[in-house]
Amino acid sequence: MLVGILAIQGDYEAHGRVLEKLGAKVRFVRTPEQLDEVDALIIPGGESTTFLNFLVEHGFLEKLRAFVRAKPTFGTCAGAILLAKDVENPPQESLGAIDLAVRRNAYGRQNESFIIDVESKFGPLELVFIRAPKITRVGAGVEVLATEKDDPVLVRQGKVMAATFHPELSSSARVHEEFLKMARNGTK
Ligand code: GLN
Repeated sequence: MLVGILAIQGDYEAHGRVLEKLGAKVRFVRTPEQLDEVDALIIPGGESTTFLNFLVEHGFLEKLRAFVRAKPTFGTCAGAILLAKDVENPPQESLGAIDLAVRRNAYGRQNESFIIDVESKFGPLELVFIRAPKITRVGAGVEVLATEKDDPVLVRQGKVMAATFHPELSSSARVHEEFLKMARNGTK
C-alpha cells in the first residue's frame, strides 16, 4: 500500500515523518496524475482557501473529489474542512466526502492554538489545535471517535476520516496508526 500526502501547501512533511516511522510507504502528491499512483491519501492542515484555489487553478479538484469518494482518505484541520459536506464562516466549496458541517476558525482569538489531552476510542490522545475548525453537525452515518468537551474532533464515515486537530504534531502516532489500519482494510 502506498499512502499519498497532498503536498501543495501546509504541514505535509510532518505527516510523512509519522507515516514513515510507522513503516508506511509514502508519496507526496503534487499533481492530479500522482493521485493514480496512491492507495490512500492524507490531506494535511494549512489554509483550506489556499488549497481550494490551487486545486481549481490546476484542474485538480474533480480528480480529488473522485479519489476521496473511492479510496481511504484522512483530512486534518484544513483537510477536514475540504472533506466536509458543508462549510461555514465563510461558506466555501468542498469535496463533500463526509457528512459534516464545519465552522472555520471557530475557537476564539486567545485560543487559536492549544494542546489538550482527551480520552478517545483509541485511548488517550494529545490534541494539537491550530486555528482549528469546529464540527457543528454530524450526519447519521458518521462515527465520533474523539471529542473535546462536547465537540466532535475526530470522526469517520466509511473510508473517510477527519480530525479538526493536528495528529502529526502529537507525541504519539496513534491516530495515524488507526488511519493505516483503516486504509489497509479499505484497499483490500
Ligand atoms: N484556519 C484554517 C482554515 O480555515 C485551518 C487551520 C489549520 O489547518 N491549522 O482553513
